[in-house]
Amino acid sequence: MKTHSTTELQQALRDGNWSLISAAALNKYQQEPTQLLQILIFLQQTLGCIPEALQEQIACDINQPRSHIKGVIEFYHFLNEQPLGNFRLFISNNIIDKMQGADQVTQWLCSRLQVSLGQPRADGHVYINETSCIGMSDQGPSLLVNGLCIPRLDPSSLEQIASLIEKDQPIEFWPAELFTVTNHIHRKDWFLNSVYLEGESLQNVMTAKSVDVLATIEQSGLCGRGGAGFPTAKKWRLCAQAPADQRFVVCNADEGEPGTFKDRMLLTHYAHRVIEGMTLCAYLMGAHKGFIYLRGEYLYLRPTLENVLADRRKKNLLGPCILGQTHFNFDIDIHLGAGAYICGEESALIESLEGKRGIPRKRPPFPVTSGYLGFPTVVNNVETFAMVTHLLSGNNNVGFEQIGTAHSKGSKILSISGDCAKPGIYEFPWGVSIRDVLAACGAENTAFVQAGGPAGEFLAASQFKRTLCYEDVSTGGSFMIFNESRHPFEIIANFTQFFAHESCGFCTPCRVGTQLNQQLFHKISTRGAAPRDLEKLAELNTLMDSFSHCGLGKTASHAIRQGLEHAQTRLIPCSNAWSPDFDINQALQISRTLRAQHTEGND
Ligand code: SF4
Repeated sequence: MKTHSTTELQQALRDGNWSLISAAALNKYQQEPTQLLQILIFLQQTLGCIPEALQEQIACDINQPRSHIKGVIEFYHFLNEQPLGNFRLFISNNIIDKMQGADQVTQWLCSRLQVSLGQPRADGHVYINETSCIGMSDQGPSLLVNGLCIPRLDPSSLEQIASLIEKDQPIEFWPAELFTVTNHIHRKDWFLNSVYLEGESLQNVMTAKSVDVLATIEQSGLCGRGGAGFPTAKKWRLCAQAPADQRFVVCNADEGEPGTFKDRMLLTHYAHRVIEGMTLCAYLMGAHKGFIYLRGEYLYLRPTLENVLADRRKKNLLGPCILGQTHFNFDIDIHLGAGAYICGEESALIESLEGKRGIPRKRPPFPVTSGYLGFPTVVNNVETFAMVTHLLSGNNNVGFEQIGTAHSKGSKILSISGDCAKPGIYEFPWGVSIRDVLAACGAENTAFVQAGGPAGEFLAASQFKRTLCYEDVSTGGSFMIFNESRHPFEIIANFTQFFAHESCGFCTPCRVGTQLNQQLFHKISTRGAAPRDLEKLAELNTLMDSFSHCGLGKTASHAIRQGLEHAQTRLIPCSNAWSPDFDINQALQISRTLRAQHTEGND
């Protein structure tokens, strides 16, 4: 079947030739229903929107109800039914980007381009909105333009961006320097210092017995680096033992935790090791297919990863009969996300891989026994796969076991951002104290640290002797630093806004609770806290912790609880035990003013 260029598809959009567009998109993805999200992302990137009539056509062509297509589009932040504009700008509103001037960037761009936030300009040329962290906290403020990242925004680059937009310059002709993402690695340890020989670990695994390899991983004590800390060997063993004739390996590169960006660095500079880790996992599991689920915000990394995959295929490290093993065929596809934080949760990620809305599954069964398309699936973080490769490359498990703590072996890669002299990537042995991390990155007068993202630990100075490890302060990699000039309520308010925005809406405790948390916290921080407000907040958070369907709802109130504990002295006390959440006087003020003006005008 003929393939169509972007220009032809855009013309078909203007002509309303939905059957041509649908056929072209479905053909590109082999008419495969599991590719629905990828098809919609392709259409969004090519056409700038996915109109209702096109949804109808796709639904008809793949024999699915249109509500299913519409549901997927509405679920993902970067998919839209309506055309937003030729240039679609999303400014990262993570607290660190805000500290670096994200609000001023938004105001300046809206004013310069004559746009109202969240509304397409009348001529359909440009659209500006905010989005959750885009993984550039070490080089913010930052934004996405038509899906591509521009970090380190300053007056000069902003003026350049605005004039390129006004000149209607296609994005492929914008100066490459605007899009340059840098990775500053300030501290290397066991992993980042390692030497890598392509295929060495895979060769080692192929010449050993699977049970011995799993025993080696088990003895090392390696646990998943995504945050949950589940023992890697146990996960792999459960998957290998699950009765099935197919198994899958998935790399979770949906690095959405605000303040984290270490997977971005690993996928840029250590991609061979990540892919080799997936390949040797596949060998041990008997899997033939793998996926890298790459967050939509890292679209710019796709060509790099495609090149590494192609290179490994050429070297017989991927594809059919890997390293001459006639029974071992394994290849990897890259699947893009489309702006949904919840897809970092492994069962939501699998739903998304299957082309659906990323709603977390009920567990058990766990993905190791019933994952992608119901088959046993290993889902591991980027860092975990990379570390396994190094672990199995020689006698490195000895070095690995010797660092860390009793229950947290090896090292951890951190993304450090916020108030410090040297934001960037740091690798430390587990067990390092918060104080030592702060000293290493040149942080001074630090008042608070948020370790593990908004769902993690909000730590005040009195707790800086605590250590990073699974048994104390656990983190998937995010380490945000706030000095004494920062108001803790501003930080917590940003987190409540993040959770309210990112709740997938599936279960009521989280869908409603995150909204109420946001409103109540806003009220407390701006108009004061009465004892009943704090009780209400505590009740609400207990309810969310107990009854939410997944970890997002269960952890969404951690930062509020910890933040209020540490910042009690900043609370404005209300004299009444009861103080309304809704200020009716304030809400009516606009209408009173308008009525007064109207009355004056009539006089
Ligand atoms: Fe969705 Fe929140 Fe419920 Fe998780 S807890 S399923 S994110 S609504």
